[in-house]
Formats: sequence, structure tokens, C-alpha cells
Amino acid sequence: MTDSVTTLELPAPLVLADHPALDLLNTRMMFEGQRRDLLGTDADAAFWLEQIGFGPATEVEGGDGHLLARLRTLRDSIEDLLAARRENRIADPAALNAFLLPAVPQLVWEEVGAPVLDRFRQGDAASQRLTRLAYAAAELLAEGDFNLVRKCESPECSLMFYDRTKSHKRRWCSMALCGNRHKVAEFRKRRQGVAD
Ligand SMILES: [Zn+2]
Repeated sequence: MTDSVTTLELPAPLVLADHPALDLLNTRMMFEGQRRDLLGTDADAAFWLEQIGFGPATEVEGGDGHLLARLRTLRDSIEDLLAARRENRIADPAALNAFLLPAVPQLVWEEVGAPVLDRFRQGDAASQRLTRLAYAAAELLAEGDFNLVRKCESPECSLMFYDRTKSHKRRWCSMALCGNRHKVAEFRKRRQGVAD
């Protein structure tokens, strides 16, 4: 049993949620009928952080599993808090708050002109990225519009997104994946209807 799991070729994480915290939750997704973790190593974690636009993976030290462990802890916490927020419950944000501790605003003045107010200067590159991610999640929980935090409408798909479309009618994780599958199914249904 474990053999089939370890040898299974998992897809790379998809960045399509329009919010880094939701993209993080999407790194655990339904794949061939089972919930899988697409992040398996520090390198996966560092590359994923690059994919969401938090800076080059090469700047992040890793290899001892620490980065992956921290990212997974953060993901678990965000998942719990987000579920509570969606279900209108109270939850304990202590684990997320621990990641926010280094988010101390610093005035950075390295070029002529206005200095920059930067909250994410503490610690090494990996810590800075995790703090930034935690901050984005905290902002979403505190200020996000939860009518726009939705799951893809496909019943087989577990991916979440933040609907930033003008009409707020986004239904699918991606048109290329679930949107098209749905269109094809609808087309078949209509054709069967005509044949009856
Ligand atoms: Zn989907």
C-alpha cells in the first residue's frame, strides 16, 4: 500500500487561488481520489514560495526538513482558522500568531527618495517568507470578504480561490481544468436530451 503512495507521481502545486494563503491550502489537494500533500521536501517548499512571488528559492537555505515542517505547521493553522471563519466559529490563532511575531515594521532607506516601510526584514530568507505568508493569511482572516473565499464547484475538486473577478461569479479553480470538464459534461447532457 505504502509503495503505491511513495512511487506515485504527484503533480506540481498549482498557483491559481489569487491569494497566497489559499494557494498554500491548495498544496494539499484531491488527486486520484485521495488527499495528497504536494509539498514533500524543503526544496518543494522553497520553490513553491518562489512560485507565489516571495523571492528566489536559491536564497532559501534548507535541506534539513525544517522549512517544510514550518510551512506545514503554518498551513495546518491557516486551514483550521479559515474553516472556523467560514463556519462562523471562534478558533485559537496562537499558532498563526507565532509566525507573525517577527513582523516588526522597519524603515528601510537604501536609495534616494522616500524610504520603504518593510515588515518582513527579521530573520533569514525562509523566515521572512513564512512571516509574509502568515501576514497575508492574517489579513485575509481579519479583513477578507469571505463571500469571495470559495471552493471550486467541481465536486471532485478541493481547490480554493479568492474570487477577484469583477462580477464575482468565478466558479472554477481554473477554466482549463474543472471549467472545461464541466462544459464537456453539460454538452453531453444536452446531446443526450436531444436524442431522447
Ligand atoms: Zn477545480
